[in-house]
Amino acid sequence: MADGDKVAGRTFAPSAEMTAGAHVDKARYDEMYAASVNDPEAFWAEEGKRLDWIEPYTKVKNTSFEFGNVSIKWYEDGTLNVAANCIDRHLETRADQTAIIFEPDEPDGEVQHISYRELHEKVCRFANVLLSQGIMRGDRVIIYLPMIPEAAYAMLACARIGAIHSVVFAGFSPDALANRINDCGAKAVITADTAPRGGKRTALKSNTDAALLHCSDKVRCLVVKHTGDQTTWIDGRDVDVKAMMETVAPDCPARPMNAEDPLFILYTSGSTGKPKGVVHSSGGYLVYAAMTQQYTFDYHDGDVFWCGADVGWVTGHTYILYGPLANGATTLMFEGVPTYPDASRFWQIIEKHKVTQFYTAPTAIRALMGQGTDFPARCDLSSLKVLGTVGEPINPEAWAWYDKNIGKGQLPIVDTWWQTETGGHMITPLPGATPTKPGSATLPFFGVQPVVLEAESGKVVEGNPAEGVLAIADSWPGQMRTVWGDHERFESTYFQQYKGYYFSGDGCRRDEDGYYWITGRVDDVINVSGHRMGTAEVESALVAHSKVAEAAVVGYPHEVKGQGIYAYVTLMNGVEPSDELRRELEGWVRTEIGPIAKPDLIQWAPGLPKTRSGKIMRRILRKIAENDYGSLGDTSTLADPSVVDDLVDNRMNRG
Ligand code: ATP
Ligand code: MG
Repeated sequence: MADGDKVAGRTFAPSAEMTAGAHVDKARYDEMYAASVNDPEAFWAEEGKRLDWIEPYTKVKNTSFEFGNVSIKWYEDGTLNVAANCIDRHLETRADQTAIIFEPDEPDGEVQHISYRELHEKVCRFANVLLSQGIMRGDRVIIYLPMIPEAAYAMLACARIGAIHSVVFAGFSPDALANRINDCGAKAVITADTAPRGGKRTALKSNTDAALLHCSDKVRCLVVKHTGDQTTWIDGRDVDVKAMMETVAPDCPARPMNAEDPLFILYTSGSTGKPKGVVHSSGGYLVYAAMTQQYTFDYHDGDVFWCGADVGWVTGHTYILYGPLANGATTLMFEGVPTYPDASRFWQIIEKHKVTQFYTAPTAIRALMGQGTDFPARCDLSSLKVLGTVGEPINPEAWAWYDKNIGKGQLPIVDTWWQTETGGHMITPLPGATPTKPGSATLPFFGVQPVVLEAESGKVVEGNPAEGVLAIADSWPGQMRTVWGDHERFESTYFQQYKGYYFSGDGCRRDEDGYYWITGRVDDVINVSGHRMGTAEVESALVAHSKVAEAAVVGYPHEVKGQGIYAYVTLMNGVEPSDELRRELEGWVRTEIGPIAKPDLIQWAPGLPKTRSGKIMRRILRKIAENDYGSLGDTSTLADPSVVDDLVDNRMNRG
């Protein structure tokens, strides 16, 4: 029996020890949750106090989901500064505590422990550099940096002076960068000379030079000399940030901002279409980031928190930077990748820095799982208390591996469902409170009111079990406020189809216990001979086979069945594709799920097209399966565009 089968369908209760020390146990969760939805005003008025306000708010919630009239405001008459909340207010008690642990790409590179005091000075100096370049409140600044402390300084420096940052993954192409610079009308780009990652270097500065050819010549280019690699230099436009930081004042006042002033714009990963410029607020966002970081991971003083995401992803914004720092936490920032120099890198970092909470994506777990169990077995992981995942439903096989090899069968795994748009966790277990079921994101976070709607009619499905699309009935403080420069797109994307609700775009099931199971994006549901099926289920079955490392399933037009099942399969290291294996996999899915789920076509895929946040771009796979290569859509957010060419070639070869 596959390990996944042994855990699927089971419930894992938090240990007594976990519950005893936790901020929230089951009774407290029930009580707080009820309070949060029965009287949101009072609940969030109280939670807002976790921040320091310059001008305290008197209004808490002012929100409307009415299509044509959507408006979301929280704490709207309060003023605060986000950077001051993440740094200054901790100086009295934590000046010498490490705020950020920086772990470089090379295991023998220089680790940095940046204290709150040092963070304060660096951020002030960085802010003064921005001011010296004429960057003012409300201006947009693109941050195109690797995972280095300067990325954190840059983000917080923007927050300090009221500029709006937009972080672009360091892995993105010049085109993707130029699109974002132009879309938000950025006044400056902050970049680095080159970025080491997994032993390779990305030429960020020359990418930026290439991007800026397509932008206004007024855009300033601020360069962090990180590796010292040679780059071109344009006098009058390019600024040496580190050199300049030495010359400016070490202090910079934190500017009072309105709670509703935008803190950042972040473009979605583009799994489903052209990336949207998601706008987040200062006050509500930070309240929500801080609160979810504390409760979802049961963070306590003295813990070492590690979110392994990239800062270019919302997960990095909320759970590397803003949430932990608002809580005065110690947060770890890792420049490299999980498999360099080998697949023990993550586990060694946990051992080295005595990480207590570790948060990653199922795709990373599956990649590491493919490398066997020796790598984690060699490391001391005993500091860990809580494990987390985000990004897609975690298949039972990956859950079982994570639980057994990393959690040693002892630790809670929080499977957190949320989106760039939501700012923070929406449906998630709390470590001391929620019994978990592998593959389920379980129950709503405080203040979140999920509803299951019938896909066609939009009617609310009452009672359990229920199945349909996932929507949210009322606002929460971390919610996005608009799409940058396109409020209409905001309304039409999220509020038009199901009136009165925020529509997530995801399908879901709610079981007898009221637990939510995300079944994937609504676009990814396939209809085979009248049976609706989530592609995630078929993928999960394929991945449960010992020879399969990854799988992606899409529908394609099928003369008889309406839609057929097309599976892209990446095999484990060292396994050779063969017709025999193809038949074996077909038979495997047949027995795991049923004859209806048997793939009609299996294509061997050496790699799958993924976004930089590790998500499979199924819309591209759909096009390839449909033999429609002319309109692959926006591919600018792919981690490795060459993967697509390979898949297209193989598809064409088989006719
Ligand atoms: P775009 O909106 O541009 O298509 P995206 O949706 O991939 O991009 P994100 O905001 O990074 O961009 O991802 C959010 C989506 O990820 C969710 O809507 C959901 O489909 C999926 N997701 C995230 N966490 C989970 C989880 N724990 N379980 C299931 N699905 C998840
Ligand atoms: Mg999305």
